[in-house]
Amino acid sequence: MPVVLVAAAVVTAAVMLVAGRSFVEGQAPPAGEVVLAFDEPTDPAEQGPADLVRRAEVFPALTTEMTEQLSLPHDVRVRFSAGGGGAAYDAARHELVVPYAFVAQVRAALSSQRPTATVAELDIATVQATSGVMLHEIGHVLVEAYRLPVLGGEEVVADTFAAAAVRLVGDRVQGLDQDVLAYADFLQGYGDRTTTVDLFDDHLPAQLRAARLRCLVYGNDPGGHADLAADLPAADRPFCVADFTEAHDSWVAVLQQYRQV
Ligand SMILES: [Zn+2]
Repeated sequence: MPVVLVAAAVVTAAVMLVAGRSFVEGQAPPAGEVVLAFDEPTDPAEQGPADLVRRAEVFPALTTEMTEQLSLPHDVRVRFSAGGGGAAYDAARHELVVPYAFVAQVRAALSSQRPTATVAELDIATVQATSGVMLHEIGHVLVEAYRLPVLGGEEVVADTFAAAAVRLVGDRVQGLDQDVLAYADFLQGYGDRTTTVDLFDDHLPAQLRAARLRCLVYGNDPGGHADLAADLPAADRPFCVADFTEAHDSWVAVLQQYRQV
């Protein structure tokens, strides 16, 4: 799918507040573009992950969705990068970076979770989990771009956005529930290999994050994810539904101020 960059100069019908600035009736809201970019691999080990993410349809779909649906106060670059490091949003540069080496790590963690998976199945799961990671990072983008209040820790906010996105954009970008579940599997694999817990890390322990993401995805559609119920204590399932509804409705309330109209 080609990357469609639409700088829609949409005129607001009402006064909008974006990033603390007023936009008056008759004036166009800011329409920052979300640009998807791929570095050329610099290491032979990066070629496989690079080919995989370049072929995937979900990344241009997500960046196009952001450009078309949101009034961002600045452009954002989403860059699959050569070199090391983890996935992160650089707020100063307005750049969301996902290194190919990180994609390889995601694949390795999923491989340990799915020892019987074929190469093709691992390819699919790796793209899904990387998409889930990207949703988390988009949560960071939104916090920065709109200077959102952070109540409860930004890493929790970002994971909550990733889960809420399953419904927020699920009618336009298909399969995000599976992406978030693969992201949870990746976190589980990462957490299972970690023997110490940093009590001062803004990230909650990975197994806890994985469980919370599964709970929220189940809460969005209990009937469609009955398979998840087996891993959820019966007493917790109603809370998953309530928590997802709260998360989704909260993000709707925030983002409706910043949507293109
Ligand atoms: Zn984060």
